[in-house]
Amino acid sequence: MMRQYELVDRVRKYNPHADEVLLNRAYVYAMKAHGSQKRASGDPYFSHPLEVAAILTDMKLDDATIVAAVLHDTIEDTSATREEIDQLFGHEIGRLVDGLTKLKKLDLVSKRAEQAENFRKLLLAIADDVRVLLVKLADRLHNMRTLHFVPPDKRARIAQETLDIYAPLAGRMGMQSMRDELENLAFRHLMPEAFAMIVSRLADLRLRNGEIIKRIEQELMNEFAERGITADVSGRQKNPYSVWRKMERKSIAFEQLSDIFGFRVLVKTVEDCYRVLGIVHTKWPMVPGRFKDYISTPKQNDYRSLHTTVVGPGRQRVELQVRTGTMHAIAEHGIAGHALYKDGRAADKDALAQESRAYQWLRRTIELLGEGDSPEEFLEHTKLEMFHDQVFCFTPKGRLIALPRGATPIDFAYAVHTDVGNSAVGAKINGRISPLLSELSNGDEVEIVRAEGQTPPAAWESFVVTGKARAAIRRSTRDAVRAQYAGLGKQIIQRAFERAGKPWSEEALRAALPRLARQSLEDVLAAVGRGEMFSGDVVKAVHPDFVVDRKSLAGPTPAKGESGWFGIKKAASLVFKVPGADQAGSDHAIPIRGLNGDLPVRFAPNGGAVPGDRIVGILTPGEGITIYPIQSPALTAFDDQPERWLDVRWDLDNDRRELFPAQLVVSAVNEPGSLGTIATVIGDAGANIDHIEFRNHSPDFRDVVLDLEVADLKHLNAIVSTLRSKSVVSKVERVNG
Ligand code: MN
Repeated sequence: MMRQYELVDRVRKYNPHADEVLLNRAYVYAMKAHGSQKRASGDPYFSHPLEVAAILTDMKLDDATIVAAVLHDTIEDTSATREEIDQLFGHEIGRLVDGLTKLKKLDLVSKRAEQAENFRKLLLAIADDVRVLLVKLADRLHNMRTLHFVPPDKRARIAQETLDIYAPLAGRMGMQSMRDELENLAFRHLMPEAFAMIVSRLADLRLRNGEIIKRIEQELMNEFAERGITADVSGRQKNPYSVWRKMERKSIAFEQLSDIFGFRVLVKTVEDCYRVLGIVHTKWPMVPGRFKDYISTPKQNDYRSLHTTVVGPGRQRVELQVRTGTMHAIAEHGIAGHALYKDGRAADKDALAQESRAYQWLRRTIELLGEGDSPEEFLEHTKLEMFHDQVFCFTPKGRLIALPRGATPIDFAYAVHTDVGNSAVGAKINGRISPLLSELSNGDEVEIVRAEGQTPPAAWESFVVTGKARAAIRRSTRDAVRAQYAGLGKQIIQRAFERAGKPWSEEALRAALPRLARQSLEDVLAAVGRGEMFSGDVVKAVHPDFVVDRKSLAGPTPAKGESGWFGIKKAASLVFKVPGADQAGSDHAIPIRGLNGDLPVRFAPNGGAVPGDRIVGILTPGEGITIYPIQSPALTAFDDQPERWLDVRWDLDNDRRELFPAQLVVSAVNEPGSLGTIATVIGDAGANIDHIEFRNHSPDFRDVVLDLEVADLKHLNAIVSTLRSKSVVSKVERVNG
């Protein structure tokens, strides 16, 4: 296992300014945290984060990344907490470790191959700092290197996931050597026989052709030297996985593979790259269609090189990659090749500037990562969209659901299946019961709690963000809402007939349908319920001799009391559900008795209403019911629309203390401390202040408009009296909007 000083030495080698104290502290902290935990290999667990850190020192990464690597499993696997890490190592490192913890949770989710692309996007979206991805890849690399210790049944799954997700990700980040190693390790575990076959054949070839490689290397170097170009030529065999891929892709046998060998030519300048190319193409015939200039047109991941294949010495096909040393570093290490501490000698200020430039580059790159490999694909995608506009969530069985940003569990439910959406009554996000209207985050696991025989509340429509959910809600609520309006309409019509002293029957009304220009009885009932048709006109349609007197149909005064305005009986005492209220998603409902139904109910927007108030409901077609205290001046606006008035009553649950909205205007002396006095009175009374606004700034007084939440009228009155008793308060008035 790597010793403490070895880790520091490794970092110091490329970054003399490394924070030694920080590195040592991380070493000791992680060692203690992991304690006696063991890996599958029997090694102390702590050896794993150290190896991961070591891989990253090879990429010359900054202190924060190395420390995050050492700590990367502490939050998830030990008693360490984010707070503690923030405190000991600073917020930046805390954030990196937190990112890694989130990614680690994803390891538990099964990922199906067809979802690999989505999953890669998810990784990118979660890891908002590219360094998190670098640590994650190094973590995966070390786990793959030690995969043979893991039980066989787990091995295949991990190897497949590496091949589907992590190796392509490394490729997109331009980390070719990381990608190669991940692929070969995965290949070896997934297809041990094929792997062994290719490895032994490659060894054969090496034996037979070793001389040829050396000869070609030498010949090329001589050619270049003659023309005064310093070049480093190295021949190499392709790696087993890329050989296998080629055999698969072209369905050819090993023997038919012509380009098992590749040569890399490293030169000093870009100019030399093209000169080398000229020399090679002049000396040997090039294979058509194999030349690629990634220097003038770099790949999305910033890879730059010239590629060509020629028919070389001994009629051997020779594949060549020509590049400079810098291009090579980026080709091998990709993002990590742009290491932040390339030049440790730079003055601190310069180093900072360099760091921020490098960081910007990293940000840009990570944005490009999600795009495809080809420029065409790149143009097809709207850049950045998937990062900012999408969230990726899981079903409990690990199915990945991609949703637009801002999506709620309701959207999620409808994305899974319309039936799931229609029967959703609650949600668990990451195992915790959460409101159906919460905004989902990347990586959330969402479980929908269902109950049959449900109708989705119409108000959901305004909370969902997906078209699918919206359409489904509209469809399934349309009928239900219509039925509710029809029920309401029927009561209004019956009452109208009663008042007119005319007998009421459905048959008679049906006969009068043509006069009302409606198709069905239900149409008429619903139209009246919605307030689109006046009940008096219905009476007149059935009894043409009836003289409609709109005044006579207006509601009686509230003084009549319990019986209410339309004689709607208490029998209908179901509680209104309030979808879309703050607590929506739970069973919360405004505790008011009145009509049976599922229409949205809200309190008067200005002034609210509290138990103890005599209240009335006003029906607004297409919206729902608004509850006003009977003294509310706003009610005069509905005086001539009696059919919109509903008899409602409080229906409190004594076991549950609930708070209700009310508004006060307090005129207080304009001096320091007066607002504090007011707030204290309200707080001591056990009420909440929801909102405060100042009005009428006169030199001596100011009016404070307070939106409160109180238990009932008694509670509110007590607060009002206490406020009035304060010397700083000159006037207190309740607002009735
Ligand atoms: Mn790990």
